[in-house]
Amino acid sequence: MEIKPFEEKIWLSTPTMHGKEIEYVNEAYTTNWMSTVGENINNVEALIAEKVGCEYSVALASGTSSLHLSVKLAGEKLYGIPKAGEGALRGHKVFCSDVTFSATVNPICYEGGEPVFIDTEYDTWNMDPVALEKAFEIYPDVRLVVLVHLYGVPGKIDEIKAICDKHNALIIEDAAESLGASYKGVQTGKFGNYGAISFNGNKIITGSSGGMFLTNSKADAEKVRKWSTQSREAASWYQHEEIGYNYRMSNVIAGVVRGQIPYLEEHIAQKKAIYDRYKEGFKGLPVTMNPFDSENSEPNYWLSCILIDKDAMCRQVRGETDALYISEEGKSCPTEILDALATINAEGRPVWKPMHSQPIFRANDFITANGSGRAKTNAYIDGAFSDVGTDIFNRGLCLPSDNKMTPEQQDVIIAVIRNCFGK
Ligand SMILES: *Cc1c(COP(=O)(O)O)cnc(C)c1O
Repeated sequence: MEIKPFEEKIWLSTPTMHGKEIEYVNEAYTTNWMSTVGENINNVEALIAEKVGCEYSVALASGTSSLHLSVKLAGEKLYGIPKAGEGALRGHKVFCSDVTFSATVNPICYEGGEPVFIDTEYDTWNMDPVALEKAFEIYPDVRLVVLVHLYGVPGKIDEIKAICDKHNALIIEDAAESLGASYKGVQTGKFGNYGAISFNGNKIITGSSGGMFLTNSKADAEKVRKWSTQSREAASWYQHEEIGYNYRMSNVIAGVVRGQIPYLEEHIAQKKAIYDRYKEGFKGLPVTMNPFDSENSEPNYWLSCILIDKDAMCRQVRGETDALYISEEGKSCPTEILDALATINAEGRPVWKPMHSQPIFRANDFITANGSGRAKTNAYIDGAFSDVGTDIFNRGLCLPSDNKMTPEQQDVIIAVIRNCFGK
């Protein structure tokens, strides 16, 4: 096969528009509902609640703001209403997924909470229930767990729910990456006390930005709706009993989301085809795809990733911002593969770097299945000790997963990766 750079870059994941979006945006314009009120918002809320199968949904400005108000609700429920300027979590520890995007964690900090990171398992690359149980042994007073379904793969929901029920803890589900993914026939975002979805530009469907708060509690949904529109009380003047936020989704953005929703299943099918084609194309290579529980769950295949076998890793060292590796015949590493992808104008990305090894969270505790522990090094040299999250970070990478990529383009990417292993 001839390998030459793509004329147009192949991205990790970009928006895919279909035409109807602009009609709904136009409708907002021509009817002058250029605001955070309107038909598009009402429709999007109803359609997503129906899709996920939860009772109530509130359209917000982002996945992050949805997570923030979820965390604030949970904090008030657990620890009472804070004084103005005080966080709802004020110093309380919260268990949180470790391998995730920082937006899962930051809202805990917005509310003054202290994230304690829970190590990852190899079966779905999500929160390890064994490590979570360990964390409750160490910190029995914790009452809130924030978990993610990474790359659109549902985590070990039954096990985690059972542990949280036993310890009387609330669950916030960060389903930002997993809209449309299901576990035992139930959609992600429905399992937790609160769920958050993102319509950011790189997600499975998008509004260019936007998010959604999900719950089965009417009172909680009403509270979030009120907080998100500056916490106005029912009075003719601006009357406030609570701190407010400007977090509501715009009716223009909602028009884009509304136009995208009918294409969710199509996007998932395209992403699944990409995942399957990679899997087939990597036969005989010392790599595995990001795994899922094929018996109980159906991912949305948002991003396709690989994990390189331990004995097929060449030496790789990562500092805080740079990486070095030493090429070795028959072996490779994420850094080498990312470099190779860049030479053909394709975008890959390392697996999300574990939160416990982010400089901002260096003082936060991190719990593995064996108890407490941080990796001593980010170097991958002769299988140096590491927790599961660091191991997946060291050996894993996200591949170009754009649903507009053609099979022929994907075959070039596969060939380039095979080349890295000399195959
Ligand atoms: C994208 C993302 C978010 C944040 O969503 P925004 O809409 O960008 O604010 C949160 N968590 C995870 C896991 C994400 O991937």
